[in-house]
Amino acid sequence: MSLRTRLLAGLAVLVFAAVATAGWSVLAVARVKLHEAEDARASVIGAQIVALVQRACAQSCQSGDVGEVARTLVDGGAAPEVVVVDGERRLIAASGDVRSAQAIADPRLGTALAGIPSLTRSGDALFYYAPLRTQAGRPAGAVRVRMPGDEEVARALHDARLLLVGVTLFDGGLVLLFGALFIRRVVEPIEGLSAAARRVADGQLDLPPVPKPRSNDELAHLVDDFNRMTVSLRRQREQMVAQEKLATVGRLAAGVAHEIGNPLAAVLGYVDLLLHDEPPDGAGRDSLERIRKETDRIREIVAELLDYSRPVTGTVEGVRLVEAVDLALSLVKPQARWRDVEVARVLPDDLPAAATSQSRLVQVLLNLFLNAADAMDGAGTITVRGRGDGDMVELVVADSGPGVADDNRGLIFDPFFSTKEPGKGTGLGLSISRSIIEAYGGTLTLAASDAGATFIVRLPMWRG
Ligand code: ADP
Repeated sequence: MSLRTRLLAGLAVLVFAAVATAGWSVLAVARVKLHEAEDARASVIGAQIVALVQRACAQSCQSGDVGEVARTLVDGGAAPEVVVVDGERRLIAASGDVRSAQAIADPRLGTALAGIPSLTRSGDALFYYAPLRTQAGRPAGAVRVRMPGDEEVARALHDARLLLVGVTLFDGGLVLLFGALFIRRVVEPIEGLSAAARRVADGQLDLPPVPKPRSNDELAHLVDDFNRMTVSLRRQREQMVAQEKLATVGRLAAGVAHEIGNPLAAVLGYVDLLLHDEPPDGAGRDSLERIRKETDRIREIVAELLDYSRPVTGTVEGVRLVEAVDLALSLVKPQARWRDVEVARVLPDDLPAAATSQSRLVQVLLNLFLNAADAMDGAGTITVRGRGDGDMVELVVADSGPGVADDNRGLIFDPFFSTKEPGKGTGLGLSISRSIIEAYGGTLTLAASDAGATFIVRLPMWRG
């Protein structure tokens, strides 16, 4: 059975039970009160009839006398049946349609013969029993008066019962109608969530977010949490894929770099030897210089590759971010591409220390600064901001360059992704930087910004 049907059935049963029990309780109380009033009236009439019968039967008692007595007391309505028995319980007189044998067998007549009057109800009729006495006051027999119940009362109770059934059915209908609407609002988001959860379980994480219900209730929060979870899972999967890629590339790079390193050192050594010991003139020297420069570049790339493949380990220390930023700046300032770059440092004095390695953090900052200088083509402003944020410290490096193209935002942390001219970039800087920061429990991200590129480095706060 679907959730929708179960909720609807449950709601209908609940409302039906509530309305029915409340209605029947009210009806029961009303019936008791009405019957009490009816009993009181019947007792009075019964007592009057008995008094008249007593008088009519003082000498001798005839059925006609008894019938007359009953008729005189009830205007218009059906005359009550009266049964009179003597002290030996023999029928003396009866009025109306009385079956004498049955009437005489009535056990309550015995009680009345013992001198105790009583009133009882059977079906729609009321029975009043009373003793008959001689003029001297001695028990002489008993009278049973059967009076029809009050039709108004019976009709009122009947109508009330009908009304109750009608109200219960009407309420049941209302519950089904509004319940269905209400349940749709509850069940639809759950169905959406369940369909989305199935797709996530099948590995589809590029889902559009599950539409949020308009209400701001637990369901809306659940949908929000689910959407956030999907985004987080997607991000984690992307990170895992990137890390796997990094690991594979790292192993490859380490092997190649190691193989290239030794012959490269030899080539550089020979070139240096030639330039130093027997420097040729003119074009020859120029060629040697070029060979040296290009080989040097290969050495740099090889060094970067080795750096890339080296696992980020090292002791964690409390690194003052101001010092790390200044150290990185002092290293980049002499470079030609830094010629017209201005730096705005917005670093509060009480900026907490980060738990990382200073040399590794400087390496990351160096990479961010050089990328910014490249993007701004050597002229512009780099703003470095810092702040503590809960258990983390944050460094923001923003530049006034052209920023990262939307299409490239998801690629710039991939190894070997570079938009720089061949020979100018290896595409390893950001991916190495990210793995360094992540190795210390932090994050390196590209923030959304209107102008330029903004990179955010977050590292755990030093608690040493
Ligand atoms: P490389 O600098 O060797 O290209 P990186 O991994 O450091 O490798 O950078 C990858 C790419 O990210 C760059 O080629 C560039 O397209 C982009 N990038 C990095 N920093 C910036 C920046 N500050 N502004 C614009 N683009 C940037």
